[in-house]
Amino acid sequence: MASPVAVSDPARVEALTLALSSVASRIAAIAQSTPPRLVAVSKLKPASDIQALYASAGHRHFGENYVQELVDKAAQLPDDIQWHFIGSLQSNKCATLASIPNLFAVETVDAVKKARKLNDARIEQWEKLNVFIQVNTSGEESKSGVAPGKETVEVARYIVNDCPRLKLLGLMTIGSIARSHAAAEGEQNEDFTALLDTKQLVESELGVDSLELSMGMSQDFEDAIKQGSTNVRVGSVIFGARPPRKSAQII
Ligand SMILES: *Cc1c(COP(=O)(O)O)cnc(C)c1O
Repeated sequence: MASPVAVSDPARVEALTLALSSVASRIAAIAQSTPPRLVAVSKLKPASDIQALYASAGHRHFGENYVQELVDKAAQLPDDIQWHFIGSLQSNKCATLASIPNLFAVETVDAVKKARKLNDARIEQWEKLNVFIQVNTSGEESKSGVAPGKETVEVARYIVNDCPRLKLLGLMTIGSIARSHAAAEGEQNEDFTALLDTKQLVESELGVDSLELSMGMSQDFEDAIKQGSTNVRVGSVIFGARPPRKSAQII
């Protein structure tokens, strides 16, 4: 049995609940019809923070970046939490990830080989595992992701045709901070535009429709929604600044 999750003090529960509801209202104020899914990014934050939002706000979608941290949290927290893996994806961790029953989506698939490993490890009787293809819309070398255009189409085609245990949910980008700042001055964010263009290309090449767009974080989720995001990943404006990875007390 996993040890019970520590209970947050009431002040922390209240602060988290207020921060989440403030983000939810900002989203509702912009969303056209169906509001995008709000993924609360809980990396390096204690399981008690997640438990607090689960119980007091009824929140279910949480995002994590590190495989071992996700495995540990998933084992301790309620099994109807819908986890999103949003961290850098390594081939040798794909099987571990796919074996988390309530993993809702892997948002960072950036190679055919990793899609194959996720597919092969996903148990047939379980629900299909949702995946997003991570697209490197900014072309920065430090960012992972598939190049927009033809390369993204090829990975998408592989998932749709050869991965029966996966469901291609959409495309994801992290984007560059500089572009997010430029967009804050009233311009369109080029990363978000590039992701939308790539989605339209994939849809027409593969004859699929209604792919999702995962884009927007604490600093730019409102702009991302204006440009068509259906899945925003918001961490620090809900949970506060993150500790350095080494000193995090996550469990
Ligand atoms: C950490 C992280 C986020 C959340 O970032 P904030 O700026 O804290 O909202 C979103 N997406 C990815 C891929 C991340 O790694």
